[in-house]
Amino acid sequence: MNNNNYLIINSGSSSVKFSLYVADHVEATLTGIAERLSTEQTKMSWTFENNKRELELAGADHREVLHNLFNILSKLNLFKSLTAIGHRIVHGGEYFKSSALITPNVLTKIEACSALAPLHNPAAVTGIQAVLEQLPDIPQVAVFDTAFHQTMPEHAFLYGLPYELYESQGIRKYGFHGTSHQYVANQAITKLGLDKNNSGLITAHLGNGCSICAVQNGASIDTSMGFTPLEGVMMGTRSGDIDPSIHQFLANKLNLPLAEITNILNKRSGLLGLSGSSNDMRTLSAKANEGDKQAALAIEVFAYRLAKSIAGMVAGLSRLDALVFTGGIGENSFLVRAKVLSHLTVLGFELDPELNNQGGDNLGLITKANSRRATIIHTQEEWVIAQDTIRLTQTEA
Ligand code: ADP
Repeated sequence: MNNNNYLIINSGSSSVKFSLYVADHVEATLTGIAERLSTEQTKMSWTFENNKRELELAGADHREVLHNLFNILSKLNLFKSLTAIGHRIVHGGEYFKSSALITPNVLTKIEACSALAPLHNPAAVTGIQAVLEQLPDIPQVAVFDTAFHQTMPEHAFLYGLPYELYESQGIRKYGFHGTSHQYVANQAITKLGLDKNNSGLITAHLGNGCSICAVQNGASIDTSMGFTPLEGVMMGTRSGDIDPSIHQFLANKLNLPLAEITNILNKRSGLLGLSGSSNDMRTLSAKANEGDKQAALAIEVFAYRLAKSIAGMVAGLSRLDALVFTGGIGENSFLVRAKVLSHLTVLGFELDPELNNQGGDNLGLITKANSRRATIIHTQEEWVIAQDTIRLTQTEA
């Protein structure tokens, strides 16, 4: 029996997240994650019909984890009835401007982008191949983090580097979190009753990773993340923008290899690095409340850098209808939203503290009636991947 079950696989560098959707229901029927892959602590956990289960899988890699997932789905009678599988792919380079049905040619291009995302794309390719081994005929769809940003004009995506480095090495801004920026921008256009073809938005995706996007007439025209997700605003553990000379300075002064400096910038900086205690905004807000000065400082720098990036995005827009907050911090931290807007009064934002504290009015709005609008929109990346998977496999059928 075909139940129209769609499996969404998100293969990270050391984890695999998965969710199962029935047709276009917004809530996933099964969700789970396998973490710490290829270590002694590899573990898979999943929730189905309100039951949470766990499986120890010491040493399992991406492929083994997926085979275990397929076994679990088989036992639940959900495997053979799968209609299609959607994969989140971090990097589509300049090849992919939208989601794509996976063919041998598409798979080759995804592999070709591995140099640009060495921790993520090979993991996704393994996931696609693991499916091919067990269900060779099932349609698979690739949904790219970078695709939405392929509309950026050259003046936005080029760096001030020798042009030859763009041509020969592909050094340019690609941008990430595209699925989320596109989804919340479209939601904002609908909710706020905007004319998509004459609209300007700035979307702020603030989770563990954070990025800002300028969306003109529904298309990305600039974004804060760049060649890698390290560029842009400060994040949970990533520094965001710094002077590129700091690499050389630290290498000389501390006698550190470049890989170690890159590790510091990715894993030990941002909120974690400045606070000295946590990368988690909830924890830091509580600490700041209790008088922890470093936690308070980390939040101040985070908010100021965000505001600067948002203000910078205005350069590309011909109008600004609203600022959209999304992601764990954007949706939940009234403190961060208030601090960001307090730096942006020159753009005409006036926070309504009551609406902000309650998480927005029925449209998600957190600003006063005569202010430029700022709103909260819940992002649903996995569901959007499911939607693209359904759309591309139905039209192909
Ligand atoms: P990911 O990028 O891993 O998907 P999320 O979008 O879930 O991350 O965002 C995680 C961040 O959201 C963490 O810093 C977390 O502390 C923050 N967050 C979640 N809920 C709240 C809350 N109620 N108040 C403040 N921050 C929150």
